[in-house]
Amino acid sequence: MTLREEIRSWLAEHLSGEFSAARGLGGPGREHEGHDIRLAWERRLGEAGWTCLGWPKEYGGREATLEDQVAFHEEYARAAAPARVGHIGEGLIGPTVIDHGTEEQRRRFLPPIRRGEELWCQGYSEPGAGSDLAGVQTRARLQDGEWVITGQKVWTSLAHVADWCFVIARTEPGSQRHRGLSYLLVPMDQPGVEVRPIVQMTGTSEFNEVFFDGARTAAANVLGAPGEGWRVAMATLGYERGASTLGQQIGFQREYAKVVETARRTGAARDPVLRDRLVQSWLELQIMRLNALRTMTSLSAGEPGPEVSIGKLYWSEWHRRLGELAQAVQGREGLVADGPPYELNDLQRLYLFSRADTIYAGSSEIQRNIIAERTLGLPKG
Ligand SMILES: Cc1cc2nc3c(=O)[nH]c(=O)nc-3n(C[C@H](O)[C@H](O)[C@H](O)COP(=O)(O)OP(=O)(O)OC[C@H]3O[C@@H](n4cnc5c(N)ncnc54)[C@H](O)[C@@H]3O)c2cc1C
Repeated sequence: MTLREEIRSWLAEHLSGEFSAARGLGGPGREHEGHDIRLAWERRLGEAGWTCLGWPKEYGGREATLEDQVAFHEEYARAAAPARVGHIGEGLIGPTVIDHGTEEQRRRFLPPIRRGEELWCQGYSEPGAGSDLAGVQTRARLQDGEWVITGQKVWTSLAHVADWCFVIARTEPGSQRHRGLSYLLVPMDQPGVEVRPIVQMTGTSEFNEVFFDGARTAAANVLGAPGEGWRVAMATLGYERGASTLGQQIGFQREYAKVVETARRTGAARDPVLRDRLVQSWLELQIMRLNALRTMTSLSAGEPGPEVSIGKLYWSEWHRRLGELAQAVQGREGLVADGPPYELNDLQRLYLFSRADTIYAGSSEIQRNIIAERTLGLPKG
C-alpha cells in the first residue's frame, strides 16, 4: 500500500464517530472553530504516527519523502480533516530544533510536538519590526541561570492557545541589526507573559499582542549560540514554504468550486466579465499546481530553482484575487452578514482573510525584491 492509500483509508476510518463533528473545522480565518476537538484529533493523529512525517525516525517521524508528505497533505485536505492545531510546532520550530538544537533540546521539545501535547507560537514581529525583522527590540539578559525577557511582540498567531513561544530577542545590549540577537524558547504560562487578542476584520481573533515583562526561561533554552539567533531565525523562515504549502492545492480547488457553484446559483456565471475572471482563475490554479510539481522536483533533486521563490508570491496573490471574485459572484448577498452579530459565510470570510495572505510569511513586496535580487540578479532597489 502506498502512503497515499494508507492515509486515505486511515482517515476514512477515523474521521468518524466523535471526530465526524470536526470535519472542515479551523484554518485561516476560522482558527476559533472547535479548538478542543481539533486538539483531541491532533493527539489521535500523533498516536497513529500521522504527524511530523518528514522528521527523522529517531524523533518519531517516518522520514517520508517530500512526495509522500505532499500526498499526505492532499489526502488530508480531500477528506476535509480539521485544520491542524500543531502546525507551527510541526512545520516551523520542529525542523529548527532538529537542525539547530542540541541533542538534549531535541529530546525535550520534539516528542510533545509530535504527540500534539505542546503547541507553539512564533514571536518574531514587533510593532517596529515586521519585514525589517532586524529591528527587534525585545531584550533578554541572563540572571541567576535564566533568561529574563522584556518587550512586545505583535501579530503572534495562536499565542492564546500556545504552551511555548520561540522569541527573537536582543541579548547583547547596544548591538545593532541582526547582530546580538538570540533565539529563545519561552514557556507561555507564567506571570511575565500577557497575551491580548487582536480582533480582525473577520470578527475573530487568531493573532495577538504578546507582552513580556520579566518573563523567564532556563538559560539552556536558546537555539544556536547566544547572540547568533539571526541565522537560526532565517532557517525557520526557510521551512515556511514546505510540504504543506505544496499540498494546499486541494483546499484551493475546493474553494474555487464553491465560487463557481455560487456563481451558477446567483446568475453571475452568465455575466461575461465574471465568466472571464472565473476561467482566468482556473487557469492560474492549474499553473500553480504545475509550479508546485516543478518545485517538488527541484527540491527532491536538492537544487531549489527559481520556481521555489515564486511559490508564495503566486499563491497568495491568486488567493486574494479569488477572494475578490468570491465577493463579486455573490452580488448583493456578499454585502450582508449571514447572521448577528457578525457571522460571515465562507466566501465572505475567504475574501476578508485572503487580504492577509500577501502579508504574512513575507509580504508580496518583499517576495518581489527577493526574486529581483536573488533570482534575476537585478541591482538592489
Ligand atoms: C495573518 C497574519 C499572521 C501573522 N502571524 C505572525 C506570527 O505568528 N508571528 C509573527 O512574528 N508575525 C506574524 N505576522 C506578522 C507578519 O510577519 C508581518 O505582518 C509581516 O512581516 C509584515 O510586517 P509588518 O506588518 O510590520 O509590515 P511592514 O514591514 O511595516 O510593511 C508595511 C508595508 O511596506 C512594505 N515594505 C516593507 N519593507 C519593504 C521594502 N524593503 N521594500 C518594499 N516594500 C516594503 C510591505 O510589503 C508592506 O506592504 C502575521 C501577519 C499576519 C497578517
